[in-house]
Amino acid sequence: MKILKFGGTSVGSAERIKGLLNIINPEERQIVVLSAVAGTTNALVEIGQSFLLGKNEEALKQVKNHKEKYLALIGELFSTEDGLQKAESLINYHFNYISSLGNEMFTPVEEKIVLAQGELLSTTLFHFHLEEIGVSSVLLPALDFMKIDEDNEPMVEYIGEKLNGLLGDTPDNTLYITQGYICRNSFGEIDNLRRGGSDYTASLIGASIKAEEVQIWTDIDGMHNNDPRIVKNTTPIANLSFDEAAELAYFGAKILHPQSVFPAQRYNVPVRLLNTMDPTAAGTLISKDGKSSNQIRAIAAKDEITAIHIHSSRMLLAYGFLRKVFEIFERYKTPIDMITTSEVAVSLTIDDTRYLGDIIKEVEDFGRVRVDHNQTIVCVVGDFGANTHGYAARVLDAVKHLPLQMISYGGSDYNVSILLGHEYKVEALRSLHNRLF
Ligand code: ASP
Ligand code: MG
Repeated sequence: MKILKFGGTSVGSAERIKGLLNIINPEERQIVVLSAVAGTTNALVEIGQSFLLGKNEEALKQVKNHKEKYLALIGELFSTEDGLQKAESLINYHFNYISSLGNEMFTPVEEKIVLAQGELLSTTLFHFHLEEIGVSSVLLPALDFMKIDEDNEPMVEYIGEKLNGLLGDTPDNTLYITQGYICRNSFGEIDNLRRGGSDYTASLIGASIKAEEVQIWTDIDGMHNNDPRIVKNTTPIANLSFDEAAELAYFGAKILHPQSVFPAQRYNVPVRLLNTMDPTAAGTLISKDGKSSNQIRAIAAKDEITAIHIHSSRMLLAYGFLRKVFEIFERYKTPIDMITTSEVAVSLTIDDTRYLGDIIKEVEDFGRVRVDHNQTIVCVVGDFGANTHGYAARVLDAVKHLPLQMISYGGSDYNVSILLGHEYKVEALRSLHNRLF
């Protein structure tokens, strides 16, 4: 079994939806995971926000606008009266449902129900489209198998059990379709795997049923060795190890949801990044054997980083100091990305600043604190093991004309990260690219 995931732009128009069959071979056993039509989740976020703020009139206007887009889309997608009618009642059903949620008390629980409608729509429309053209497929409701626990962690064993059960109900079927992104939480409520989570869905499905391969289909021919929007002449990377891919995905290579690497790695399911616009291009294969030694592989950058510098004489020769600092971040469920320490100071970075004010108040008990906003982490992935010489020096040499705020080396064998002000990002990426590749 293969898992094929298509993102929002790959189902962004009637033409693109029809084009999926150029890639999907209905005869092969596979589960197709779809995102919502491009722009839909953003629209649903806005609708949910309006309802939450009690601006119901505005919300209903947004619902109406968005519904129009779907009516236009199905007009192009379906050619039979029957197909069109079915699609239209589907759209009426989902948008009426969204509107009706505003009639009762609207809480974050209802908000998540609103967010789930995009994937429910895209998958059912695709299923109806296949039906209209005589291709048989089975729709697997993600809400019947995709589940997260109290800590919002996916329950891989549970997912596999449920999914195998559902697949067993239709043993002769080859093509399955399911929703990315959406799931149920430990209360059984409708929830989601956070923005961009459809990749995560595909990887969790692949891991849970030990699929042969997970394919992530997007608009670019694999993971590139630098940001193609900023640097000219970037090239796709043919092979990556899971660890390298996780670093790159986390540090800004937008093509893959960072968390999606871990289930694939844990259950050793290869992940292939492929291009819908150029289906025969090799793309990037992420696998256990993907690591190549003695090479710098790629450069990525992550913006909107906040750095917190804590200077404390209490840290001198003390034990337990870092634990106390980290506990504060833990209590506010705020992940730390990068850390550097000296004997009397520690600097760290976060990208989730929701609780920054509270965190700083508590951290100030330990010493002097400085906060720098609008920073960028530039991460270079490659073979930085202690027995390879000179690579770290080459990285630093390439950015020696820029003011570096933090440098992190040695945390793993395959990554050097530097922190600098956002205004130096473009120059850093270009200069590194020119010197390293
Ligand atoms: N539709 C969701 C989003 O826009 C999930 C995804 O596309 O991966 O975030
Ligand atoms: Mg995505």
